[in-house]
This record gives sequence, structure tokens and C-alpha cells, in this order.
Amino acid sequence: MLSYQHAYHAGNFADVHKHLTLFAVIDHLLRKNSAITYIDTHAGRGVYPLLAEETRKLREYRQGVAPLWQARQALAAEPLLNGWLASLAEVQQHESELDHYPGSPWWLAQRLRPVDRLMLFELHPGEHEHLARQRLPDNVQRIHGDGLQGLRRRLPVSTPRLCVLVDPSYERKSEYAEVAEALLGSMRKVRHAVMLVWYPLLPAGRHHELLAGLRDGGLRKIWRSELTLREPAADERGMVGSGMLVVNPPWGLDERLAAAMAPVTALLGETASHRSDWWVGE
Ligand code: SAM
Repeated sequence: MLSYQHAYHAGNFADVHKHLTLFAVIDHLLRKNSAITYIDTHAGRGVYPLLAEETRKLREYRQGVAPLWQARQALAAEPLLNGWLASLAEVQQHESELDHYPGSPWWLAQRLRPVDRLMLFELHPGEHEHLARQRLPDNVQRIHGDGLQGLRRRLPVSTPRLCVLVDPSYERKSEYAEVAEALLGSMRKVRHAVMLVWYPLLPAGRHHELLAGLRDGGLRKIWRSELTLREPAADERGMVGSGMLVVNPPWGLDERLAAAMAPVTALLGETASHRSDWWVGE
């Protein structure tokens, strides 16, 4: 049964980390003219009003996008953050207020060119209904169904380039292994694909299964970025950090993201830190 709803977490530190990485990857991909198919395997609703009942319950955006928004003038000197925050401003109903946080479908659709394609998979009927109501360009396809199965069925794609975001809720422990398997299968079909995978950093360390699965499956060129909020307390079980893997990362992504994450971690608190490295090299 699907119970996760992203509206409870919209705009939190993990969203910032994930969407900033996605934004940077898209930036790099758009330096070339050839068409791109984007596939978002776990799309969610698309856009989240921060005053929605679900989001107001935890207000996780207060330790996520809100401090960045408040500091946006000071952050304008950092090129990646400046571009990201300027895009974020476009989705707000009132110019100076942070009232909405956009999800991955919006970040992808916003920079879609007429030659590109975007497929959004969402399995939860209610979440898919929300997504179906979003105003999106004609070259966006919304599919009510399983994202990992859908991904495999749709490959290869007709465009010269492919970029995939895999962002599950990891409600089931088996999802870590399922994601690894789906990625290995997809990369066999489209070797040059750029794939982004998000994972939570939990005290239980479940993401190690995903990382080991990809390495042991023989996948190369996997870059890893991890944003840690704090060391977990002795009895803590919740998320203490956010991880991103990028398979076949565009050249220069590591430096750009590291530069942007420095002020982000400073705004997230004294114990926050960011590190990036090659999980598997060439
Ligand atoms: N990618 C979104 C973003 O960045 O705004 C957030 C996605 S949220 C973490 C995960 C979403 O995946 C939820 O909306 C959930 O309903 C959906 N989901 C869960 N299992 C799925 C599956 N097998 N296929 C597609 N979507 C699924």
C-alpha cells in the first residue's frame, strides 16, 4: 500500500539538495543542442503550496528552502544558487513571498525545449490526480503507473540523449535493491544515459545496499553527493541526510555543486556538511 505523500516534506533540505543537483545537471545538458528525453520515475504532485494542510503539519521547508529564500540576495553571487533561486521565484504567486515549492516535474518541465520530451510516472492515484491538474507543456507525458517498470519498457528512447531521475519514497526496504536492479538494466540499454538517484541517509544505513548493488553490478562512472544535517542520536531512526548519485555526470558538475553546497550547509546549521566523491570511477 502506498502511504507516502511528498506534500508533508516539500521543500525540506533533501528537496533542496536533490533539485539543486538536478538543476545543475540540466544546465550542463543544455549546453548542447541535441534533443533530450527526461524520465522522472517517481514524480509526485508537481508543485506544493506551502500553506497546504499536509505541508503545514511538519513545515520541513523551514530547515530547507526557507533559509535560502530569505538569504537570496546574499546568495546571488553564487552562480548556480542564483539561477536556482531565480527559477524558484517564478513559481511564487507573490513576488517576494515563498508560498510554493516546486517538485521535480516542474524543475524538469520549466527548462524543456520543444525538441525535448518528458515522461512523468506516478503510481499513487491521488498524487497522480494532483499531477494531472498541473499546467505543463505539450511535450510532457503523465503516466499513472510504476516508474521503474515504465522506465525499462520505454528504453531505448528516440532522442540522442536521455536523463533519468529516480526518486522513490523507500517505503519498502526492498526498494533499494529494486532501484539498483532497474538502473543496471536501464544502463545496459542506454549506456550514455545520465541517471540521478536520490536516497535517504538513515541511521540504519540502508542505502549501502543500493550503492553496493550498483558497484557489484559493474556500473562505472557513479558520482556521489551527500548532505548530512547531523550525526544521529543514539535512538534516532529518522532521516539525517540526503544522498544523490549521478551516473555519467556531466564534466564540471562536481565543482559547481560543491561551490553551491558550501553556503547551503552554512544556512542549514552548524552541524550540516556536504561531501562528494566518485563512488565508482571510470
Ligand atoms: N520526485 C518528486 C519531487 O522531487 O518532487 C518527489 C517524489 S516522492 C519522494 C516519491 C513519489 O513516488 C510519491 O509521490 C509516491 O506516490 C510515488 N511512488 C511510489 N511508488 C512508486 C512507483 N512504484 N512508481 C511510481 N511512483 C511511485
